[in-house]
Amino acid sequence: VIQIGQPEHSVVTTCAYCGVGCSFKAEMRGEELVRMVPYKDGQANRGHSCVKGRFAYGYATHKERILKPMIREKISDPWREVSWEDALTHTANEFRRIQYQYGRSAVGGITSSRCTNEETYLVQKLIRQGFGNNNVDTCARVCHSPTGYGLGQAFGTSAGTQDFDSVEESDVIMVIGANPSAAHPVFASRMKKRIRQGAKLIVLDPRVTETVDSVHARAEFHLPLKPGTNVAVVTALAHVIVTEGLHDEAFIREHCDWSEFEDWASFVAEERNSPEAVENLSGVPADLIRGAARLYATGGNAAIYYGLGVTEHSQGSTTVMAIANLAMATGNIGRRGVGVNPLRGQNNVQGSCDMGSFPHELPGYRHISGDSTREIYESLWGVKLDNEPGLRIPNMLDAAVEGTFKGIYIQGEDILQSDPDTKHVSAGLAAMECVVVHDLFLNETANYAHVFLPGSTFLEKDGTFTNAERRINRVRKVMAPKNGYADWEVTQLMAKAMGLNWSYAHPSEIMDEIAATTPSFAGVSYDLLEEVGSVQWPCNEKAPLGTPIMHVNGFVRSKGKFIRTEYVATDEKTGPRFPLLLTTGRILSQYNVGAQTRRTDNVVWHAEDRLEIHPHDAEQRGIRDGDWVRLASRAGETTLRALITDRVSPGVVYTTFHHPDTQANVITTDFSDWATNCPEYKVTAVQVTPSNGQ
Ligand code: SF4
Repeated sequence: VIQIGQPEHSVVTTCAYCGVGCSFKAEMRGEELVRMVPYKDGQANRGHSCVKGRFAYGYATHKERILKPMIREKISDPWREVSWEDALTHTANEFRRIQYQYGRSAVGGITSSRCTNEETYLVQKLIRQGFGNNNVDTCARVCHSPTGYGLGQAFGTSAGTQDFDSVEESDVIMVIGANPSAAHPVFASRMKKRIRQGAKLIVLDPRVTETVDSVHARAEFHLPLKPGTNVAVVTALAHVIVTEGLHDEAFIREHCDWSEFEDWASFVAEERNSPEAVENLSGVPADLIRGAARLYATGGNAAIYYGLGVTEHSQGSTTVMAIANLAMATGNIGRRGVGVNPLRGQNNVQGSCDMGSFPHELPGYRHISGDSTREIYESLWGVKLDNEPGLRIPNMLDAAVEGTFKGIYIQGEDILQSDPDTKHVSAGLAAMECVVVHDLFLNETANYAHVFLPGSTFLEKDGTFTNAERRINRVRKVMAPKNGYADWEVTQLMAKAMGLNWSYAHPSEIMDEIAATTPSFAGVSYDLLEEVGSVQWPCNEKAPLGTPIMHVNGFVRSKGKFIRTEYVATDEKTGPRFPLLLTTGRILSQYNVGAQTRRTDNVVWHAEDRLEIHPHDAEQRGIRDGDWVRLASRAGETTLRALITDRVSPGVVYTTFHHPDTQANVITTDFSDWATNCPEYKVTAVQVTPSNGQ
């Protein structure tokens, strides 16, 4: 019998794992966290949770957590513990030295989608006000940056259109390139409940995922498309809708530009976009495409949910726009039960994008070239802002290799594990003179760091996270920061060491500044959040209690925009040396590269990454279930164990990327989305051969 202490008090806060944003009661005895209990009044989760949020908080007190700042002159030197004051003075001096020596643009930073809105806002402010450039980026670069671009182009906002409750009024649910059963489980259970009530499910995914086929729900149509063919298949769905006259003319005439629709319709109606024409290249039988298109267009309220299987492609932004076209053509936008909804991966990736973590955008997705927007910040911050976009993460690494970018502040992201082309990332980091890692653990990126600043967990800070439905949830401090300072305080101390006059006493004051300068957040305050629990942006004079459904009386950009989505095959080709296509995904009990979930005392967290391979491909190679195999691409190779299954089609292999030993990003290519540089993680030509596991 395990004796656990009885809680003495509890604090309501928000899960720090996925973009569902579940609310929890953290039950405490003194400074000890006794348990996390799903909060019944949580507006995103309504008393539910998954195994990660409920049980995987042990990393907060894990013995490997670093609690003291450390510096070293060279990355080959041992770390030396120093005081906070010494670490921050050293960091500020180094950034100033680099700028003096190499120019103002030789430094930059990366905000974290794991940190709060307020912390993210401060990092971009430090870079714009303190560094004097726009060299700020976020991990959304490698996940949902095409969503920001594509939905912005089509609808005028870079976010999902619905609240989670909306799915309860859907009659048809189309899931594209996502596996919510593993990655967004609490939303998935609401979706499956609706399917059990009679809604029909369509899934576009190369693999038979738990979302396609489980004991709780089964897809009416599963379109097992070859990795890299999203645009062709989604455009073929549009072909059926247009050529069979299933579009919603009244909606289009009222909310879109009819001549743009006609231009787009004549494009999708071309024979080369028909289901029969794309059957061969996509691997999806034409009758499945036709059936799915008819169901989506005529089955009642139809909603689309999509994930990284859409965005992490060389045509990621194009697919997002193709999805937006489907919704506009059928009038499935602007009311409950319909819409276009990116399933955001990390707890605050929506918020990090909202808060101006892009080199071309200030908070609220306003382009840096806008004079009136820049003036708001220039008068408040007392600086002249650059009107040119700064460097994206890949550009920073390129510039580092070329010798023009020398210093970086990385808050809460392990770019060596999570970004593509690991060799290039390490070369870029190794070429810099001051790499500052602000994190919980000595992660892989910290191998190249000169300064390590200990980070704080979600349990040790106040702030807000914004989930995938634009819901701003309060994060409340449960215990004192074990490292001494919450992350927002560390950034503020660094700003002060650089000579900036910051004096926030509490994150609520940072939110007040965000509200005062960002129209879509104008009505947000901690007082309001205490009163109503949470709000979904836009929250302002027009919508004082927030906006659950977007584009209700017309699109934010006035008229929805139909955009031609020409399919262009990826440059990543299979051939005799690399005949199979690798795609990747997640399992329920692990999170991303496992930095948190692996540091939790429970064996459920320790499952290894496996390579799923079809029985036919395994037999051809003499591979048995459980054998070690060598997985090689043009970029690199790794070893892992095989799992033989017909969940993947012949010619396709699949793995998760939760363990550092797997090094999935050693395998992936450096191709990326044409509009945003989001890496093409989901398509890699590979060969699989037996291995002895060495
Ligand atoms: Fe946390 Fe996401 Fe699980 Fe909810 S569904 S408990 S937010 S990991």
